[in-house]
Amino acid sequence: MKPLLELTDVCYAYHSKGGETPALENISFQVRQGEFIAVVGPSGCGKSTLLSLISGLLVPESGSIWFAQRQGEENGERTNRKEPADSALREKIGYMLQKDHLFEWRTVYRNVTLGLEIQHRLNDENRAKIDKMLRDYGLERFRDARPSELSGGMRQRAALIRTLALGPELLLLDEPFSALDFQTRLAVCDDVAAILHKEKKTALLVTHDLSEAVSMADRIIILTKRPASIRKILELAFAEPDLTPLARRSTREFQEYFNLLWEEMNRNE
Ligand code: ADP
Repeated sequence: MKPLLELTDVCYAYHSKGGETPALENISFQVRQGEFIAVVGPSGCGKSTLLSLISGLLVPESGSIWFAQRQGEENGERTNRKEPADSALREKIGYMLQKDHLFEWRTVYRNVTLGLEIQHRLNDENRAKIDKMLRDYGLERFRDARPSELSGGMRQRAALIRTLALGPELLLLDEPFSALDFQTRLAVCDDVAAILHKEKKTALLVTHDLSEAVSMADRIIILTKRPASIRKILELAFAEPDLTPLARRSTREFQEYFNLLWEEMNRNE
């Protein structure tokens, strides 16, 4: 089966008056439909740059990024041209960031419908989908509340619903939990994993938190320091499948994978 996303020898450097900053070197990997991939690497190595390339905000200097239009279809879209990806491709990719970017002057409902409103796609079908997500993910009572009335975890759930409302095939999560306190973070990881699993979404999570990566991912891509290349791809297998991120944390495998990851990250080469 063809992957949903395929990167082949992707290289990228930032150019400015001061010179060139190489950020990524020969990055190649594939992502299958429904997979949860974590990307870890030293701070400033190029993780966010990688997500910007996948989302089409940046274009690779060399190499290519192939993104399937729909699983099973042979034709996909390739961004190896010197121009930004077209808007149809961008709409299939959802972005979730550290800051939830909810607007205080809009209610929760009017925040989660904002993307659809902008794209002129707020029809009855999409309204029904949003109503269901608000019900399923515990925000129905707060639909007319302002974001400041929500807890940190609820805000992230609202931000996720806003992203999912646009029907993306692939979700790019850039440190989405790092602004939360530790306890909330554990709970939100569980919520987000359950939501993505239920909605059958494919996700790529950038994180500096190794335990978060081990608790959530099917595979972990470990990057070297800048310019980032792939140091190793770690495939995770737990004796008991379908554990929540929190439940994974108390398994023997969790400790083993965490130690492996720690050693890789601290290997000086
Ligand atoms: P990470 O997400 O791993 O912390 P980034 O992808 O944000 O790393 O950045 C990788 C490198 O590229 C960093 O050294 C950063 O300073 C540099 N960089 C990021 N954005 C720009 C830019 N717009 N212009 C020049 N250099 C940049």
